[in-house]
Amino acid sequence: MPLEIDVAPMSPERFRSVLGPDRYEAFVRAAREGRELLRGRVVWNVNSTPSGGGVVELLRPLVAYARGAGADVRWVVIDGTPEFFAVTKRIHNRLHGAPGDGRPLDEDARRVYEDVLAANAAALVPRVRPGDVVIVHDPQPAGLTQALRAAGAAVIWRCHVGLDEPNDLTREAWAFLRPYILDADAYVFSREAFAWEGLDRERIAVIAPSIDVFAPKNVDLDAETVDAVLRASAIVDHQGEPAGPVTFTRLDGTPGRIERRVHMVEDEPLAPEHPVVLQVSRWDALKDPLGVILGFAEHVPADTGAHLVYAGPAVEAVADDPEGERVLRESIAARAALPAETRRRVHLASLPMQDAEENAIMVNALQRHARVIVQKSLAEGFGLTVAEAMWKARPVVASRIGGIQEQIVHGDSGVLLDDPRDLAAFGAAIADLLGDRASAERMGDRARERVRERFTSVRSLLDYLALIRRVLGRERVGAEAVSR
Ligand code: UDP
Repeated sequence: MPLEIDVAPMSPERFRSVLGPDRYEAFVRAAREGRELLRGRVVWNVNSTPSGGGVVELLRPLVAYARGAGADVRWVVIDGTPEFFAVTKRIHNRLHGAPGDGRPLDEDARRVYEDVLAANAAALVPRVRPGDVVIVHDPQPAGLTQALRAAGAAVIWRCHVGLDEPNDLTREAWAFLRPYILDADAYVFSREAFAWEGLDRERIAVIAPSIDVFAPKNVDLDAETVDAVLRASAIVDHQGEPAGPVTFTRLDGTPGRIERRVHMVEDEPLAPEHPVVLQVSRWDALKDPLGVILGFAEHVPADTGAHLVYAGPAVEAVADDPEGERVLRESIAARAALPAETRRRVHLASLPMQDAEENAIMVNALQRHARVIVQKSLAEGFGLTVAEAMWKARPVVASRIGGIQEQIVHGDSGVLLDDPRDLAAFGAAIADLLGDRASAERMGDRARERVRERFTSVRSLLDYLALIRRVLGRERVGAEAVSR
């Protein structure tokens, strides 16, 4: 049975302070027109998981703000069997150009995929009325498209996965999925370059991902709170003083408390005055932790006084990521092999994941504390960590790949590295920013403006609204043509 997720509405009113009067008024007008357009309709979102992962992080605030703006927007999670999720994981890996479990996407895989989605469609279709809009997220529920259209809904397929250079494996996954989504009223990709071959260009739309600037991950924190969070979680030396209780506000408004400690691999604790260079990423080879460590160690001069923090999730927390443990072990070994003087300046942080919002506040505080933030990935779909860092007005040094290129304007709102494997250029860009605080701060301010303009939840809602208007308009034109 598909599961409906209850999302409490959040008022978009709070965006007044973030957007400024003109942009906010434009949003209010659009929201009014949106309510008119959507009167009597439900906008359904369908995905395959209620928690964890970037899609949920993105979806929840969008649903909450849309509901807060008065639209009847709902979120449903499909139900699947282990065999089904094995097939969809295979599809997911191939969309990323990797073989995954190496098994074929053949007729058997199709049968498993279609059987599960037929059962979900049987439960979902009776609830969807003609004129509703359904946004189907990612490959897992893509096979619902035809049944939902047959029920009279407009269907938008939203693909969150993208690759700079598709290979044969990617094309194999496209070929598997294409027949299911071909009839959709629109296809949404995160970047123009991610749009698949073989789709009607007219129906392709691009909507960039967004961050919730009021979530614990991104909400403004004053310097005192940043300091308290870093001490309470043992990221920064608390100098023997027992840290008092440090609290934060959860998404639902209730108070949370920093209860857990970060596990630091380091020679001695970070002092509050050390300038920090930070990368926040999973322990994943494509995030290149070894390159970050070596690039920093060999190419950021000691006289900058800077320390590197690479922060990732505690690996035991990421059960479906066996690679994480190996990459963390390799990172620890790479750090251990550094000369003692350099090693002192390199800290590996494993952040507790039991409480997602506590984790988010730690990430937030770390990002606000950092002098320079890096994202030296070798592959990246969008790279939410970049937008998160930019929102905190940090100068970011990042690889010129994937969606990072949409976010940073080189030399203006950050620094893009042409060759992500060029450690000397990586180190030099960091050293420049450490050495010139005025221009680093200017760059940080421009970065925050860039996010304000392009990557907030409100921006995304307006994009979806415009797309829904387009799709429903096309439907009306079609209906008139038929009746004539
Ligand atoms: N993240 C986190 N804790 C960690 C490491 C990462 O909360 O210890 C978050 C990070 O803040 C971001 C997301 O995980 O919101 C990662 O998204 P991104 O698009 O950067 O990369 P992905 O992991 O999806 O490849």
